[in-house]
Amino acid sequence: MSAHLAQRPPERLAPDRRVGVCLAGALMVAVTACGGDGQTEPVTRATEVEVLAGAGQIGLHGVPLPDSLVAVFRGSDGPVAGLSVTWTVLGGGSLDVARSRTDARGRAAALFTPGRGPDSVRVEGDGLEVIVRARGDSADAGTVHIGRNAYVDYEAGDLPIIVSAGHGGRLEPGEIPDRTFGVVGSDRNTDQVAEALADAIEARMGGRPHLVISRLHRRKLDPNREIVEAAQGNPRAKHAWLEYHTLLEHASERVAARHGRGLYLDLHGHGHPIQRLELGYLLSATDLARTDAELDGGSWAASSSIRTLAAEAGVPFSVVLRGPESFGGLMEDAGYAATPSDIQPDPGPNPFFSGGYNTRRHGSLSGGPISGIQIEAQYTGLRDTSASRAAYAAALAASIEAYLDRWYAELDGNR
Ligand SMILES: [Zn+2]
Repeated sequence: MSAHLAQRPPERLAPDRRVGVCLAGALMVAVTACGGDGQTEPVTRATEVEVLAGAGQIGLHGVPLPDSLVAVFRGSDGPVAGLSVTWTVLGGGSLDVARSRTDARGRAAALFTPGRGPDSVRVEGDGLEVIVRARGDSADAGTVHIGRNAYVDYEAGDLPIIVSAGHGGRLEPGEIPDRTFGVVGSDRNTDQVAEALADAIEARMGGRPHLVISRLHRRKLDPNREIVEAAQGNPRAKHAWLEYHTLLEHASERVAARHGRGLYLDLHGHGHPIQRLELGYLLSATDLARTDAELDGGSWAASSSIRTLAAEAGVPFSVVLRGPESFGGLMEDAGYAATPSDIQPDPGPNPFFSGGYNTRRHGSLSGGPISGIQIEAQYTGLRDTSASRAAYAAALAASIEAYLDRWYAELDGNR
């Protein structure tokens, strides 16, 4: 599925060329490569090795599952057969070697069960070496996990920010039939908005958010629905759905472990006539039409996706929800109309998206340290061109930074 190359000879390994990458099956691979010229190699020698991690092995709820590892050795003429391959566990975990000698297609195979720590496996053959590192190892911001068939991907971050985009996917593989009920229209370009936002956050804050993106078109998968409507019984779509939510849970666990608290933003696009951001806290337009006193006095905070943040903010809920330093207030300051905010406290009698499955599941409605907001953006001027997306992403990044400074800095002082 994903490949990195390690070239011989190992005695000339250049330690500064370690590259982290993440494969299907929830494994990250660190490859140590070197600059051997290879020009005098016999054609029967292997000149590269690619390690594939088997599909369908992703762990659920953070529990690692065994992962099938396949090392493919190739030379200048193609696969190298009959090569003796050594598999070695580094750290914890266990290894069940299925094939220690390459077959006619140059493949050797093993099953690896990660332990609790940052385990890894070394694969050696014909002077080539690859180190496969189990996930759970930190210090890997920017490494990418690519799910089965690249339907879902996850980029690890190092800030207490998690960004997802579930409706901007473009892939329409034949192996998944079109969904027959529910919404199938895509939120155009929200995949690119998410990527632009990650870059804008890095430019502004010097670190990366955790980023989870569905690459499947909404006709094939709707990850912002429970699994029945989302995948409509198709096992491949179900697998992608599980990957999407497992990766979001993984990101939440990472953020909680490292920072104590975190902010989750689920990016969407709406086609409503009023050109403004619609911020979903799981509160309907009717809920939001209540007075501040009503919202502050009732159980609205506890029914919201920022339940934990609101409980710890030390100010009335309405201040967090729609004061000048609410997320909507900050976006209004940045020149982007938004509701709820101090400028537009409620949507009025207009169409409004109040948050969906992701916001409910991955925000703090049920408690937990990650509070979440769904952000629905209009198309024109925000999602339509790369310049629009860059400007919108920059405004989001500035608001996120201000939001963390205002609502998170006093909680743990750590970001
Ligand atoms: Zn959407």
